[in-house]
Amino acid sequence: MKNPNLRAIWLLLALSLALPGAQRAKNVILFLADAGGIPTLNAASIQIYNDPAKLFVQHMPHLALSDTSSANNWVTDSAAGMTAIVTGHKTNNGVISQSADAIPLKKDGAPLKTILEYAEEHGLSTGVVSNSSMADATPAACYAHSNSRKQVGNIFSQVLKPRYGDGVDVIIGPGRDQMLAATREMGIDMLAELPKAGFYVADTLDGIPSGTRRAVILHNNPNHDLAAATNAAIKILSANRKGFFLMVECDVHANRLPQAFERVATVDKIAADTVQRMSRDTLVLFTADHSFDLRLVGAPKGQPLFTGGDNRKGFVPKSMLINGHHSGEQVLVAAQGPGSERVHGFLANTDLFGIMLKAFGWRESK
Ligand SMILES: [Zn+2]
Repeated sequence: MKNPNLRAIWLLLALSLALPGAQRAKNVILFLADAGGIPTLNAASIQIYNDPAKLFVQHMPHLALSDTSSANNWVTDSAAGMTAIVTGHKTNNGVISQSADAIPLKKDGAPLKTILEYAEEHGLSTGVVSNSSMADATPAACYAHSNSRKQVGNIFSQVLKPRYGDGVDVIIGPGRDQMLAATREMGIDMLAELPKAGFYVADTLDGIPSGTRRAVILHNNPNHDLAAATNAAIKILSANRKGFFLMVECDVHANRLPQAFERVATVDKIAADTVQRMSRDTLVLFTADHSFDLRLVGAPKGQPLFTGGDNRKGFVPKSMLINGHHSGEQVLVAAQGPGSERVHGFLANTDLFGIMLKAFGWRESK
């Protein structure tokens, strides 16, 4: 082809033919900064980088703001917040992926099908990673259904009773003693039952046999290496040629400073590394289930927001007001990869479910 114009036209044609296929996600990775609202992201970026917009997630190509309200409150807890994100339906505070007629500890609602369950139904591999208990509200809302987030035994035991496919394949994080005790109380020995369901079970990432397709790695360390856990999960899940869904939670509640800010930087770096590492057929989403009432008040430039001190012991830096509660304003949604173009403007938390479902190329079903 000697005519350069013709060559350009052919190139454009080839590109336009290639694009529709490229718009489908093989994998979806959802990063959930628990309580990581914009005030916390802003303060963390200032504290760590002396710049309010130095986080990777602030520079992802597609950004939106998301409402976080639950069915019965403008301010959600993690249970209802995550239910909205992974099922597309709002429920009442305290409820784990059940419909809004559920009443915590009193009445069940109907189970709401989660994006993890859709992935299982389609033969993909699925996983959850966190630095909170793996039976806590955020991971639980992905793989379990319960009228109350407090029913730890009931939640964890559902790993053995999948509603779609073979259920969640990878669980990595803390909560071991609490989760094993709660299931033991129900007469279930999870350490005996999990291997029967095909899980490699351990309390450390060291020594995961190659070829492992299902793993429950439980320990009691909320400060474990979240990057290593995420990488281990991706390695196991990537063995499935059909793709995978992975949720990575990082608890950044700002009633724990400076830990919360360090964790924002950690999960931000994990998101950056993950985007770098994954192929273009992966949708990477970053959001929060709700915000947190932290405000900067009188913070001179050129100084860290605070030095020393640990506000778990009642210390509150002069530069901030920290109320210690969840708050109701919109949170950031940041996205990259196939389907991320749907992330713009003001969204509802329930919209995130549809964005993930459409990215996979699926429709809502019972
Ligand atoms: Zn939360």
